[in-house]
Amino acid sequence: MNCAVCGGTATKLNIEKQPVCSRHVKSKAKAPACPDCKLPMMIRAGKYGAFWGCMAFPSCNGIKKI
Ligand SMILES: [Zn+2]
Ligand SMILES: [Zn+2]
Repeated sequence: MNCAVCGGTATKLNIEKQPVCSRHVKSKAKAPACPDCKLPMMIRAGKYGAFWGCMAFPSCNGIKKI
């Protein structure tokens, strides 16, 4: 998994349950805007690790890699 703040190797989860590296345990990643509907995105866990998913899911399927 990649750190949601810097993209480095994530080893922990922060208070928002976002995957982060040890340097960013106290940081929160700024949620990107959905590429499809422009709503903020949320960290979601998938089979292949965490990713940004649209908060309007399932009506919107916008995703972004962390
Ligand atoms: Zn980091
Ligand atoms: Zn969306």
